[in-house]
Amino acid sequence: MAGFALEIENLKKVYSGGTEALKGISLKVQEGDFYALLGPNGAGKSSTIGIIGTLVTKTSGNVKIFDIDIDKDPAIAKSMLGVVSQEINFSQFEKVIDIVTTQAGFYGITGSVSKPRVEAVLKRLGLWNQRDEQARTLSGGYKRRLMIAKALIHEPKLLILDEPTAGVDIELRREMWNFLKEINENGTTIILTTHYLEEAEQLCRNIGIIDQGEIIVDSSMQELLRKLDVQGFVLDLEDPLEEAPSIDGFPLKLKDSLTLITAINRDKSINNLFDELNNHDIKIKSMRNESNRLEELFIDMIKK
Ligand code: ADP
Repeated sequence: MAGFALEIENLKKVYSGGTEALKGISLKVQEGDFYALLGPNGAGKSSTIGIIGTLVTKTSGNVKIFDIDIDKDPAIAKSMLGVVSQEINFSQFEKVIDIVTTQAGFYGITGSVSKPRVEAVLKRLGLWNQRDEQARTLSGGYKRRLMIAKALIHEPKLLILDEPTAGVDIELRREMWNFLKEINENGTTIILTTHYLEEAEQLCRNIGIIDQGEIIVDSSMQELLRKLDVQGFVLDLEDPLEEAPSIDGFPLKLKDSLTLITAINRDKSINNLFDELNNHDIKIKSMRNESNRLEELFIDMIKK
């Protein structure tokens, strides 16, 4: 039976300024999984990844990579992990092939073992033709590929990517998705952070949603999408409100004092919402369907 590629237990991070970035999160990722850690900016995604990759020191809690505790056996844990961070982590003036070869050297991969390995990884990422070019001449998308090549050179069993497609155009994003799917199909467990639900939906089997340092959802993608089978509505009010009412099963947000927005699951009736609003003495002047409010509301939705 497959074990866990990653186990996080009660992980806390308080930065020196006092920001409580992680409030004791726990999550498990199965070996072979493609897992999305989704959340808005500032949720704690980068802190989590930084701790797993031992770039950020944790305040408390435990992290295991393939059953190896990162505190007890950091070198072994690291050998099984590849991390692609958001920041460029190579010298722009070095040649592509040299960057990857040097990285191999850090893991003790040299000489006759290194050469074919570097060639294979560069070919796999479509970087072989650019191998003798300085990194600075590569486009943004190719620079990201180079970062992935670096992270894969020691053949880690777990690959973690922090917002791999942030700032990448649609075409490159799809290309990156296909490439990551292929790596996963070949047996590498992948965890990525994103703030695009669509990206998680396209790629991932399981998903964790983090908000303000807490995991608010940990489920299969399928299950989450079923919950998110909703329609967005905009309700214009007769009289201004100071805050949105709290009504069970119907997440409501005030867009401005005269406009409420909501997202309603298809298995619920909007009439129930009207009844409830009526009970709160809130009169609706008009209503329209607006599905693009979904992204804004979905975190509220699934919390309920
Ligand atoms: P995300 O990756 O989801 O955007 P982060 O993990 O970067 O979230 O940030 C979580 C919280 O921790 C935020 O409030 C952020 O401002 C804070 N934070 C992140 N890095 C630092 C740091 N080096 N020092 C102080 N606060 C930080």
